[in-house]
Amino acid sequence: MISADLPIDDIRRCSRDAAFMSEVAAFLESLDQSVASHTPVCTNRGACCKFESYGHDLFVTSVELAYFVGLTEGELIAPVDRSFCPYQQGGACVTRVQRPVGCRVYFCEERSQHWQGDLTESALGELAKIGDKFKLQYAYLEWTTALRKLAGRVVDGPITAPNGGPVTLSIDSLPKRS
Ligand code: SF4
Repeated sequence: MISADLPIDDIRRCSRDAAFMSEVAAFLESLDQSVASHTPVCTNRGACCKFESYGHDLFVTSVELAYFVGLTEGELIAPVDRSFCPYQQGGACVTRVQRPVGCRVYFCEERSQHWQGDLTESALGELAKIGDKFKLQYAYLEWTTALRKLAGRVVDGPITAPNGGPVTLSIDSLPKRS
């Protein structure tokens, strides 16, 4: 189920909770091992991170976002629009350790198509369990929209930075809910 609301306070709290971060890290390590067992090969050099030209979207849960925030040093990058991920730079992902589940499971090659659906479903179930355990409200939304919400920016319309590049803001700059 897609949910556009983002539980900012829960995300901030979990991103600073060592037990939460350790549990998500362990889950992602086991997910990576499952993916590796299929010996997939990436040949498109980040074309799938350019969502508009590639023709797909990336969706993430609040659990993945909290983990992403917890491991991101410095400011978060808000995408200028929905067309590409701002964390792909020079054809490479610069946030590999904390990248979302979809980035880990998706491979475009034909021989990788048969296992991705089941693994994604099972991963979403595990993420939901972790969210329940740490009382992190469920959210599931498009990645660039989530990044823009995390950076405290409006979702509608393009974001224009003074230099034309991505906007950087900290989650700590967001007002706390009363
Ligand atoms: S987080 Fe990394 S792998 Fe995922 S869309 Fe962005 S650049 Fe690509």
